[in-house]
Amino acid sequence: MADLGDLQSLTSSITAVTSPFRNYLNDLHAKYQSLNDGAVADYIPELALAKPEWFGICVVTAEGQVFEVGNCDQLFTIQSISKAFVFGLALEDHGRDYVNSKVSVEPTGEAFNAIVLDEVTNRPYNPMVNAGAIATADLIKGHSSTERLKRVLAMFQRYTGREHDINVPVFLSEKATGFRNRAMAYLMLNFGMISDRIDETLDLYFQQCSIMVNARDLAMLSATLANGGVNPVTQERAIDEHHVQDVISVMLTCGMYDASGEWCYRVGMPAKSGVGGGITAVVPGQLGIGTFSPPLDAKGNSYRGIKVCEDLAKDFGLHVFNAAKPERDINEWIAGGNDLNDW
Ligand code: GLU
Repeated sequence: MADLGDLQSLTSSITAVTSPFRNYLNDLHAKYQSLNDGAVADYIPELALAKPEWFGICVVTAEGQVFEVGNCDQLFTIQSISKAFVFGLALEDHGRDYVNSKVSVEPTGEAFNAIVLDEVTNRPYNPMVNAGAIATADLIKGHSSTERLKRVLAMFQRYTGREHDINVPVFLSEKATGFRNRAMAYLMLNFGMISDRIDETLDLYFQQCSIMVNARDLAMLSATLANGGVNPVTQERAIDEHHVQDVISVMLTCGMYDASGEWCYRVGMPAKSGVGGGITAVVPGQLGIGTFSPPLDAKGNSYRGIKVCEDLAKDFGLHVFNAAKPERDINEWIAGGNDLNDW
C-alpha cells in the first residue's frame, strides 16, 4: 500500500502509456488545449496571475489507478470546491439534522454570492453558495481558530493523501476585499443562524478557499467520495460513509453555481467547481475526475473543464442516470493502467 508521504512522488512518476484510456485522455487534452474561450478570474490580483493555457486532467479510479495528462502538478487555490468537503466535515461534527437546521439543501438558481436567505426559515439555501458555506464553516468544531483550520487541513489530507498549504496572499486578499461575504455573515448573525465569532469564521472560510491543490488532488477528492469515503490509494478513510451520499447529492444539485441544472442534464456527474479553474467530478462507485484550466465561463465554471467532463460522460456513459449501453466500456479502456497499490 502506498504510504501517505510517498503518494506525491509515486503519482508524479507515472509516465508510461499503458492503457487505451491514457491515450484517450491525451487526445482529449489536445482537443481542448486550443480552446481560447473564457476569462481568468480577476476579482483579486493573485488569481489574475494564472496562465490561461494551464490545463490538466486527472482521473483516479475507485481501485486506485491514476491517469493524468497536462499540468497536473500546477498548484492553484481550491476556492469553492472546498465547500463540498467542509460540508462533509460539518455533517460529521454535528449530524445531518442539526446541519440542516442551519443550512438548507435547495438549489438557488441565483449567483453564488447572492445575498439571499430562505424567507421562512432564514437559512441559507445550500452549502455551495457563499452564505451557506460561511454558515457551514461556522459549524466546524475546534477550541481555537488554529484548531479549526488544522481540522480542515487534516481532512483535505485524508482525502488527497498529502499535506496542503494555504496561499497566504490569496487568503489576505480575500479577507481584505470580502465585504459581501462579511455582509452575509452579519445578516445570518442577525437571524441567529451563525454564532458571533464572525471574524474567526470568515477567516476560516477565506482560508479554506485559499488551500492549494492540483488537478491530481481534485481527482483524489472525488475518487475518495466515489469509493465510499476511503482514499483508493492510501486506503485512509476521509469521511464517514454515512455522509458520502449527503455530500454527493448536494454536489449534483448545487455544485456548478447557477449552471447546476444544465450541468446535471448534460453531464450528470456530481461535481463542484471553483473560480481558481478547478472542477472535481464524482462517478459514484467508479472514479473521480479532476480538471484544472483557469479560464471561466460567465457562470464561473472552467471552460475546458466542462468540455472534458462532457466528453467523458458522453463517451463512456458516465452520466449518473445513463441507462443506455455506452459507446465505450470504461472498464475495458482502463485495463492495463497503472495501479499504485501494486507499486
Ligand atoms: N473565495 C470566493 C468567494 O468567497 C469563492 C469563489 C468561488 O466561487 O470559487 O467569493
